[in-house]
Amino acid sequence: MSLLLLFALALMADQPKVGELERLGKTGQDFLVIGLDAPGFDQLSPKQKILSYYLYRAAIAGNDLFTDQNHRYGLEIKDLMEQIYLNSEGLDPPVREAVHDYLKYLWLNHGHYHHNKHQKYLPNRLTPEMLRRAAEHARQRGARLKGDRRKALGLNYPLEKPLPANETLDQKLKRLEPHIFDPQFEPLQVNQKKGDDILATSFVNLYHPGITQALFDRLEPAWKARLNVRFHLRDGQPEPQLYRMGGIYDRYLETISHFLKQALPYAESNEQRAGLQALLDYYRTGDEKKFREYSVHWLKSDTVIDYLNGFVEQYKDPRGVIGQFEGNVSFVSDSTLIERLADSASYFEKKMPWPEQYRKEKVSPPVANVVNVVVETGDSGPNSPVAYNLPNYEDIRRDVGSKNIILLNVEEAQSEKIREQMIREFYLPEFQEDYRAFDKVARKWEVYMHEVIGHGSGRPDPKLTQDPRTLIGLAFSSLEECRADLVALYHVWDPKLVEIGAFTREEQPRVARAMYIGYLQGTMNRYRSLEDDIVREAHRRGRQLILSYLVENNYGARVVQRNGNYYAEISDLERMHQGVAELLGKLQVVKSTGDAEGATQIFDRYGTRVNTTWRDNIKERAARLRIPDETVFVFPQLVPVLKGNEIVDVRIETKEDLTAQQLRWSRWRFNTRIPAE
Ligand SMILES: [Zn+2]
Repeated sequence: MSLLLLFALALMADQPKVGELERLGKTGQDFLVIGLDAPGFDQLSPKQKILSYYLYRAAIAGNDLFTDQNHRYGLEIKDLMEQIYLNSEGLDPPVREAVHDYLKYLWLNHGHYHHNKHQKYLPNRLTPEMLRRAAEHARQRGARLKGDRRKALGLNYPLEKPLPANETLDQKLKRLEPHIFDPQFEPLQVNQKKGDDILATSFVNLYHPGITQALFDRLEPAWKARLNVRFHLRDGQPEPQLYRMGGIYDRYLETISHFLKQALPYAESNEQRAGLQALLDYYRTGDEKKFREYSVHWLKSDTVIDYLNGFVEQYKDPRGVIGQFEGNVSFVSDSTLIERLADSASYFEKKMPWPEQYRKEKVSPPVANVVNVVVETGDSGPNSPVAYNLPNYEDIRRDVGSKNIILLNVEEAQSEKIREQMIREFYLPEFQEDYRAFDKVARKWEVYMHEVIGHGSGRPDPKLTQDPRTLIGLAFSSLEECRADLVALYHVWDPKLVEIGAFTREEQPRVARAMYIGYLQGTMNRYRSLEDDIVREAHRRGRQLILSYLVENNYGARVVQRNGNYYAEISDLERMHQGVAELLGKLQVVKSTGDAEGATQIFDRYGTRVNTTWRDNIKERAARLRIPDETVFVFPQLVPVLKGNEIVDVRIETKEDLTAQQLRWSRWRFNTRIPAE
């Protein structure tokens, strides 16, 4: 190697790993991996940076919890592949590559089921023979593969069949192989199909195998509404196992708590400190009341540094009740416009197109922040949302409110090239100009309104004694996402948006047109990742419902065929607006009255199945352009600057690729040292 080349390589290693890093999948279409930066972190005060650092470590300490919640063998499979990969020197390159490729999918999906589709996926290249060879190779190099790794992984709940006392590598591979390679074996992670026993046929690790709907129904109602629990099957009866220290996930919660405690003295406000304390109490006791307390402190604290840590969203539970672990850290970027929207929340609530008794009488302006995220683990990363609105407790939302967070650096991390390709391929020529000019501003306000005035809006019927979420059950998440989207689509016409500076009066009709066509076509474009004709993920079901409802009932929206391709078309924008209002009114009544039957009916009718001719056409065009199905992230690294034993400052770096980052997170599972290595 020449000196010059060595020098060039050394320079490359030092290049920030920001922007497009790699593509995965047979044609590079499954995942686009983007390295994320968090501009502005350096300008925070040392105290804020130190707070971020401890919260960052707490987020990483919980990353594997979500993998375990996803499937009872999810973490073991990931660990097996990591151990093989780490001991793969000298292994045949094609075998090593096959292991590495599958491992990346395990990291990005947190296990062997697709994160959004909730179905099992198979390795692209890895075969059972390759796995055996690779495992044997790693074993000879001293990898810890055989026997029970579950304990080392902090998993302390019994399996349906106890493992043999000294399980050999061969036995272990036999046990795990059907999970990795057999598409028919436990095929669905989350099954919400009407008429099916959704508990018996969903293999997410929130319910022990063998728990049926009939068995589950025997439990006390309080357990059925519980957020932080796994249900074990003992002597034929479901038995709750709480997520708490001393209970299930003990070591994880202990490690997380260690860092939350370190964060306490650096809290930016009393509200934030009280939230941290409540969260610590919650992890210690498993008492959900403490998490509710944390949630109230969290939504009220309007600090620069913010974080999530807990069992939060409920999409992986077929019943929509048990929470999935996620952790993140963020800091406020520019929030001027979103704050103005939040200040107008009462104004928008009064104009909601649903019966007066389901409107909130008084809306205190929700906290709304535009942030840059530093790290996201578990349910929220590497596959990140662009925004969230929490907490999910309906009564807290009604009585206290909610907080909205928009992740600016995630939202903006797009490939301009892919955007332009998609506009040309998927949008009818007569919509391209408006869409190209206003898609970003339309998308931004769609997200703002979805979060700030969408999720926070409306109220349950005063006669209702139970949370509508519990009453509606499996359709609730989809219903709620759909409702929030409709609020955005409905209000984009409102003069208030011009008044607060979202766009000019002249631009407004074009922004609305861009938002509507982008919504319809964007929904169809997501068909590119469907393998069958069923939409499963909550946001996508919500989108599907709106598209079908407007198209099938002739609300000014159509899907047309031109030159052999299918396109969304708006024939009458005003009529579409009416359709949006009508559907929004209907969904709000369903939600406010906790009408489970109504929710199921409307989603079965409009929000589940897609037209396979349209789907095939979209898939073929997306494949031709190699449009990735999912965008996922590698996050920046925080590096503590020490003086003696004390952190005095924190640096931010962007040096890792996906593999380095994920291996580090696994390595740091129960690590409480600073620096960690
Ligand atoms: Zn939402």
